[in-house]
Amino acid sequence: MELIEKLGDWVNESKNIVVFTGAGVSAESGIPTYRGNDGLWEKYDPEKYANINYFYQDPSYYWNFFKEVRSPVLQKAKPNIAHKSIAKLESLGKLKSVITQNIDGLHKEAGSKNILELHGNTRMFSCIKCKTEYRMDQVNKLLEKHLPPECSKCNSLIRPQVVFFGENLNPIILSRAEKDLSQCDLFIAAGSSLVVQPAASLPLIAKNNGARLAIINIDPTPLDSIADLVINISVSEVFLKIVQGIKS
Ligand SMILES: [Zn+2]
Repeated sequence: MELIEKLGDWVNESKNIVVFTGAGVSAESGIPTYRGNDGLWEKYDPEKYANINYFYQDPSYYWNFFKEVRSPVLQKAKPNIAHKSIAKLESLGKLKSVITQNIDGLHKEAGSKNILELHGNTRMFSCIKCKTEYRMDQVNKLLEKHLPPECSKCNSLIRPQVVFFGENLNPIILSRAEKDLSQCDLFIAAGSSLVVQPAASLPLIAKNNGARLAIINIDPTPLDSIADLVINISVSEVFLKIVQGIKS
C-alpha cells in the first residue's frame, strides 16, 4: 500500500518522532474503552466509576468495577504489534516519546521508556493520605481482605493513579508533551478519534512547529484535512510494515 510506504519513508527520514496513541491501540489488545460488548461492562456506569466526586462519595462502586471488570481485562491484555513497534522505534533512537490517552500501561510493558500517560496508569495506585504507592498485584491482595482496599500503613482509601472525570491533567506531563512536540519532526497520531482535548490540539502544536502529521485511524478524524497523510486501517498493520522497512 503506497500510503504505508510513504509513511515508512518519513520514519526513515525522521529523528524525533512523537507517536500519540488512543483507544484504538488498546482495543487491538482486547481492551474496550468505556463501553465494551460484553454484559459486565454494561453493568457499571462510566459516569460513576470514572468520576472523581462519585469515587469519594462511594469508593466501593469503583472498586467493585475494578475487581469484576477492569482487573481481569488488564491481566489478560498483552502489548500488541503497535506497542512493540513503538518501543522498537525508541530503541533505534528515532522516537522522542510516546504520548498516550490510554491508561492500561501497555506501552511500558512493551518496553517503551519515554512514555507520557496523559490520563495516568490504572495499574498503579496510591494512598490518598500518606501517598504510599501500590502495584496492581498488591492492590488485588488488599482487595481480598477489604473492599474498598485500605492502605496497609494508615488504613486510608487507596485510589488508582488515573485522571478521573472532574480532575485536571497533570501539568508536568502536559508541559513535557509540549516540549517534545516543539522538537518533533514527525507526529503520528494512532488509534485516536482526536476529538477530546488535548488530543485535538497536540497534532496542531506539532504541525505548527514544522512536523509532518500522519494520522492512522480506522475512522476519519476532524484533523484529517490538515494532515499530510491519513491511513484508515488498523494501527498494528501499519506499524508492522513500517518497522520491517526501517533502514539501519
Ligand atoms: Zn496511607
